[in-house]
Amino acid sequence: MADVKYIFVTGGVTSSLGKGIISASLAKLLQARGYSVTIQKLDPYINVDPGTLNPYEHGECYVTLDGAETDLDLGHYERFLNVPTSQANNVTTGRIYQTVINKERKGDYLGKTVQVIPHITDEIKRRIKLVTSGNKFDIVLTEIGGTVGDIESLPYIESVRQMKWELGTQNCIVIHLTLVPFLSATGEAKTKPTQHSVKALLEAGIQPDILVLRTERTLSQDIKKKVALFCNVEENAVVESVDVSTIYEVPIKMLGEKLDQTVLRKLGLPFEKDPPLTEWREFLTRLKNPKYFIKVGLIGKYVELPDAYKSISESFIHSGSMNECDVNVELIHSEEITDKNVAEKLKGLKGIVVAPGFGSRGIDGKISTVRFARENNIPFLGICLGMQCAVIEFARNVLNMEGAHSTEIDHKTKYPVIDLMEEQKSIIDKGGTMRLGGYKCIISKDSKTYHAYGKPEIVERHRHRYEFNDKYFEDFKRNGMIPVGLNPETNLVEIMELTDHKWFVGVQFHPEYSSTVINPHPLFVSFIKACIE
Ligand code: GLN
Repeated sequence: MADVKYIFVTGGVTSSLGKGIISASLAKLLQARGYSVTIQKLDPYINVDPGTLNPYEHGECYVTLDGAETDLDLGHYERFLNVPTSQANNVTTGRIYQTVINKERKGDYLGKTVQVIPHITDEIKRRIKLVTSGNKFDIVLTEIGGTVGDIESLPYIESVRQMKWELGTQNCIVIHLTLVPFLSATGEAKTKPTQHSVKALLEAGIQPDILVLRTERTLSQDIKKKVALFCNVEENAVVESVDVSTIYEVPIKMLGEKLDQTVLRKLGLPFEKDPPLTEWREFLTRLKNPKYFIKVGLIGKYVELPDAYKSISESFIHSGSMNECDVNVELIHSEEITDKNVAEKLKGLKGIVVAPGFGSRGIDGKISTVRFARENNIPFLGICLGMQCAVIEFARNVLNMEGAHSTEIDHKTKYPVIDLMEEQKSIIDKGGTMRLGGYKCIISKDSKTYHAYGKPEIVERHRHRYEFNDKYFEDFKRNGMIPVGLNPETNLVEIMELTDHKWFVGVQFHPEYSSTVINPHPLFVSFIKACIE
């Protein structure tokens, strides 16, 4: 335990400054220097996990291989580091309190008054250390959600203060991310909000070791010096993070700002010359110099908030770069699509993706979309609910099963082609009860999916309650929609493909969760290839 080093990232001034990206970028640089690093996110809300949250609240719910429903920042961590995260990498206030209250009910506190300090803070510290139990990592980077000064984040900030006191600055540092706004009227960059947010941290007993300043424009050395003086940090520990065109540029920027060197110096860890980041730079070069340009439609019902589809959009960036292709992903509202206007709405798209989702809102538009893609031979990728819509559409329009549906939406349908999984039937609780995380799938040879993966056995992540209804297996197969991927233990259908189509694949799982910069997901890569052709 003693030789694990801890880095905390806090945020000030406003939310949405990109703590997740700064954390992931720093972790990437430390990893490139040979350190084993993991990143953890502590979220101050009271939901036990974000699985029960509407995507409009905090964006997409990300799913780890071990089946945790987590904050979308974990997606960034995996995409940057190419290392899987787990249940331990995301902890919420709800989970902390649940553990403490369960212990209290068991009598574990032996008659003591249970309080925020020390019981909640002890549980927070235990969770922070849990992520590296068995000394799996040299460095644990913990991002504290929210903004310093929020009532909700106080117990976390207090836990950080205690850890800093217990472990010493050589083993535990705090990086504070703030905003330096630029006032165009006077042409000035303003440091006061940063000073105030550092004061808020100081009130909680924490002197930050490093400041990262988000800014629209490059900051002068004078500004950095002023911030250093007023905020009591070394001048070379004031780092600027200027707006860039892609988040994948941030590690390179942070390397230029020597953020990683400053961190390692403060933690007393050795470092040599800068890592070349060859693969990363090649990825960026391809990304910025595309040979092809295509527009792909992403049809979903949460399009007002692009973060709701974060992993899908990022997967297109990875697979686009791989294909030297600029993929313009147009978010299209499924509620606005009808059988009548579908051709107009989807005009000019080289490929169509129907997004995951829950419930009936926008479902008809998704079904019309599938029909349009199927009949017009446009490359199609259906993800989870998207695959289920493809099944419903095929049942209705090819197999003539009028009114075929998923029982999620019409529980009285005559043709329940998508139905609740057997193991789901007795479940009442909503939180953490779906079919979650990695499951095996065996792919039939000669399918497009097999060609994409180049292997017959895969493991992909899931998040659903409904499944393809086995009863109709032969009907679909006989008529050209083939279940080409099956779970070897349960025979659940994982992949559906049309034989008579350029590229039409529906997957019950979520390929987007496992696409990374270094390993773009093969299905997205193959889909983009088909769109370019
Ligand atoms: N609502 C569907 C189900 O539960 C699909 C879920 C999803 O798209 N993630 O099966």
